[in-house]
Amino acid sequence: MIDLRSDTVTRPDAAMREAMLNAEVGDDVYGEDPTINELESRCAALLGHEDAIFCPSGSMTNMLGVAALVAPGWELIAESRAHVLRAEAGGHAALAGVTSRTWVSPDGTFTAADALALMSRPRGYHQVGTAAIAVENTHNFGGGRIADIDELRTLRRETAAAGVAVHMDGARLLNACAATGISAEEYGRQADTVSLCLSKGLGAPVGSVLAGSAEIIEKARLLRKRYGGGMRQAGILAAGGLHALDHNLAGLAADNAHARQLADALAATRPGIVDPELVETNIVFLDLSGIADDGEAFAAKAAEKGVRVSVMDERSVRLVTHRDVSPADVDTAAEVLVSLL
Ligand SMILES: *Cc1c(COP(=O)(O)O)cnc(C)c1O
Repeated sequence: MIDLRSDTVTRPDAAMREAMLNAEVGDDVYGEDPTINELESRCAALLGHEDAIFCPSGSMTNMLGVAALVAPGWELIAESRAHVLRAEAGGHAALAGVTSRTWVSPDGTFTAADALALMSRPRGYHQVGTAAIAVENTHNFGGGRIADIDELRTLRRETAAAGVAVHMDGARLLNACAATGISAEEYGRQADTVSLCLSKGLGAPVGSVLAGSAEIIEKARLLRKRYGGGMRQAGILAAGGLHALDHNLAGLAADNAHARQLADALAATRPGIVDPELVETNIVFLDLSGIADDGEAFAAKAAEKGVRVSVMDERSVRLVTHRDVSPADVDTAAEVLVSLL
């Protein structure tokens, strides 16, 4: 089975398991796990911030970033399909009392103007004020689009002047770096808090990190404990993340190229199903509105032929390339999906 549902399906390889087996560990709630400490300082530097915190999931890193930046009753604004608002079980509202509003970007392109136009300053006792703006880079449900660095710089400048914070959901930030050649540090500096997933394209089994100033990460440490995310000898997990940073970064460019290859093959067969020019990283959304099968039917037929895809809604499916999909698998997947069109 060629599994294109998500890059979360990647499994740790033998070398990563070996690194995890041999990890030095300690009690991280006491700050004594050397492997976690190493991962955190390494990710802080990677993302251009003073400190970082290791968490079990990307949802938790986003939760901590948002809760650290937004007081109860204040708002977080984001694009309408942002993962933080659509795919984290409403954590920011349920656990931190954060309200939200959204701007809409139909093709996932980020512009500072969209975000800034929605930003609101508190007025009187009734109007909700924007405390933070979330930018997703790359934008998952926006088709893996990269947030333009100049737009991010503009957002950073204008929000700083207004006293509004920026949270970057950088679950797949390193896929953006692989595509643009811009460093994670340069992207990371455009936000107060940045999250990064180790368990997607990087191939670690578990874990994400949140980076920010020492003060914000200190707040996040308290929040992580409150939410039940204080882990003990989790250096075994952090070792997978360190191994991924040492060995798996180079593969992300190939994952991006594979997505483009799929998009090119499908668009050549059925123009309009995807615009390959908008496939910038490792995610391909197919618009099925021109074909008879709905998402469920298309996915079921693909699975019968050995390719798994994610159903996003009635008229769209998502394909995600990753390190467990070989170049030969990409060729096979392209043939199978083309045959369904
Ligand atoms: C995967 C993902 C996350 C975090 O997901 P978890 O499953 O909680 O690790 C956050 N943001 C984006 C954009 C994602 O794609």
